[in-house]
Amino acid sequence: MAENGYDYLIAGTGVAGLCCALNLPASARVLLLSKAAADESDSFLAQGGICMLRGQEDFAGYFEDTMRAGHYENDEAAVRLMIESSPSMIAELVSRGVRFARDGEGNFRFTREGGHSRPRILFHDDVTGKEITSCLLAAVRALPNAVIRENCELVDLIAEGGECFGGVVRENATGALSPVYAKAVLLATGGVGGLFENSTNFRHLTGDGVALALRHGVAVEHVNYVQIHPTTFYTEKGGRRFLISESVRGEGAVLLDKHGRRFCNELMPRDVVTGDIRAQMKKDGTRHVWLDMRPVGAYTLREHFPTICAHCLQEGYDVFKDPIPVVPAQHYFMGGVKVDLDGRTSMRRLFAAGETACNGVHGKNRLASNSLLESLVWARRAAAAMAALPAAEAAPAPDLEDCRAYAALKERYAQSVREEAEREACYD
Ligand SMILES: Cc1cc2nc3c(=O)[nH]c(=O)nc-3n(C[C@H](O)[C@H](O)[C@H](O)COP(=O)(O)OP(=O)(O)OC[C@H]3O[C@@H](n4cnc5c(N)ncnc54)[C@H](O)[C@@H]3O)c2cc1C
Repeated sequence: MAENGYDYLIAGTGVAGLCCALNLPASARVLLLSKAAADESDSFLAQGGICMLRGQEDFAGYFEDTMRAGHYENDEAAVRLMIESSPSMIAELVSRGVRFARDGEGNFRFTREGGHSRPRILFHDDVTGKEITSCLLAAVRALPNAVIRENCELVDLIAEGGECFGGVVRENATGALSPVYAKAVLLATGGVGGLFENSTNFRHLTGDGVALALRHGVAVEHVNYVQIHPTTFYTEKGGRRFLISESVRGEGAVLLDKHGRRFCNELMPRDVVTGDIRAQMKKDGTRHVWLDMRPVGAYTLREHFPTICAHCLQEGYDVFKDPIPVVPAQHYFMGGVKVDLDGRTSMRRLFAAGETACNGVHGKNRLASNSLLESLVWARRAAAAMAALPAAEAAPAPDLEDCRAYAALKERYAQSVREEAEREACYD
C-alpha cells in the first residue's frame, strides 16, 4: 500500500471505527488510526450491554423509552432507524463471533437498566463492550485491506472548498507529521471525557473530532449535552472513575443516604437519578452517597457482575456485605459533529459516527445501552455511503505549520470545544 494514499481514512478504533472498516468494500485500502493502543477505547469499557428490539410488540415501548430519556429532543427518524436496525446489527455481531448471555435453551437473556420499561439489553457478564470490541478488532486485524496505526493521531483535516481530501496524521512517539489522502474520512474519535476532571472515559478522549469540525466550519450540534453517570465508584484517587453499571440498579441495587435510607427511584433516567444524588449529597454535606448491591442477590452478583465485585474488593469494599460509595461523573457526550442518517457531515467526503457524532438519537440525554448500538448502526451506514462515493479530484497540499506546535494546538482544540459548549448552553 502506498505510504500516504488510501481509499478511506478512519480516525478511531472503537466500535464505530472498527464496524465501519468491516463494512467497507474488501477491495478498498483502509487506514485506521488510534490515538493510544487500539484496545484503549471507551468501547472496551462498556459494561451494561447493548439494546435490541425483542419483537414488534416492543417497538412502541423502546421508542417511547428512548424519547422520554432524551426529553423528546430526539430526532424521531433517527430513533426509529436505530431501533429497526438493531436485530440485523446484533445478528452481524453474532456472526462475527460475539457471545451474548443465553438461557439453557440457547435463547438470548435480557437485562434492564434505568429508563427502560422492560428488559431489552443483551450482555456478556459485565464486560459487554470488551466482548464486542475485541471481536471486531480481531476481525479488522485479519482484513488484508486494512492497516491500523496505533499511537497515531489525526491532528487536522486536508480540506478545501467544503470538501475533505484526507487528514494530517501525527505519530505520537516521534511527533512526525504526514498527510494521508483518502476519498472519504470517518471521524470516530469518541467522546469528550478527557476534558473533564471526573470522568469514566479514557483520558485521551478529548473531543478531537468535534475540534476538527469546529476548525473547518463543519456543523456541530448540542456540544453542551453531556451526560453525567449517577454511579461511579468514589475514591480520593484521581484518574478515570470506575463505572458501577446501571444494570446493577436494574437488578435491584438501591441508593442510600448517609443514614442508610433510600432517597430516590433508582430506575429513573440518568439525569434524574444524578440530580437526586447531587441534591442528597448537598443536603447531607457528603462527597458521595452509598449503593447497596446486596438486594441483587449473591448468585446474580457473582454471575452477572464479576468485574464490578472484584474492583470494589480491590478498593476495600465487599459488595456482598457492605454498601459502596458512589458519586456522579461525566460519562457520555450526546452532542457532536452533526450528521444525517448516513453519517454524512456538512463537509463533502467527511463522515462521523459513534460518540463523536450527533445524529439526534439521544436527544438531550441518552437512554442506557443505546450508544453501542447507535455507534454500530451509524458506522455501518456510513460505510455504505462512503463506498458509494466517486474518487476525489486533485487534493490540495496540507498546511502542516500549525500542527508542529502540538501542545498549543491541542490546547486550542480543547478550548474551542469548551467555548462551543458554553455558547450553546446560552441558547438552552
Ligand atoms: C465505563 C463506560 C461504560 C459504558 N457502558 C456502556 C454500555 O453498557 N452500553 C452502551 O451502549 N454504551 C456504554 N458506554 C458508552 C459507549 O461505550 C461509547 O459511547 C461507545 O463505545 C463509543 O464508541 P466510539 O467508537 O464512538 O468511541 P471509543 O470507543 O471511545 O473510541 C474512540 C477511538 O478514537 C481514537 N481517537 C480519539 N481521538 C483521536 C484522534 N485525534 N486521532 C485518532 N484516533 C483518535 C481513540 O484512540 C479510540 O480508538 C460506556 C462508556 C463508558 C466510558
